[in-house]
Amino acid sequence: MTKKTKGSQSRGDEASANRPRCRWCRRVLTNRSGPGRPKVFCSQACRQWDWVSRQRARELQISENELVVARRELDRLYDDLYVLSCAIEDTDRELGAGRPTVASLQEALRWLLDAARPLHNRTVAPHRDSP
Ligand SMILES: [Zn+2]
Repeated sequence: MTKKTKGSQSRGDEASANRPRCRWCRRVLTNRSGPGRPKVFCSQACRQWDWVSRQRARELQISENELVVARRELDRLYDDLYVLSCAIEDTDRELGAGRPTVASLQEALRWLLDAARPLHNRTVAPHRDSP
């Protein structure tokens, strides 16, 4: 399914690919007009996490481009990505199987959304308690 409504702006859109993104969470930044420095972060929380990660990198004498992440957080992310991957494969199979029914497509869509929701707005934080 590739049909999109005119003007839709999902993360994967060509238009959003070239727009400035938050330096921490990589979300597309909203346009800001007026004077002042261009926006670098989408939120104060992202600004703080970025600062914390740079401090942590200095403490550990690693590059600012490297990040120490809690194993459990990475495991959780990989688990959720695995579930999403399974949902994509199942949905692809459903779409490729003859003539799927409306009910089977609804079920596939629900499964896909259930698998994607845990990743919606997910961010990865550096290994430290809250900023
Ligand atoms: Zn952000």
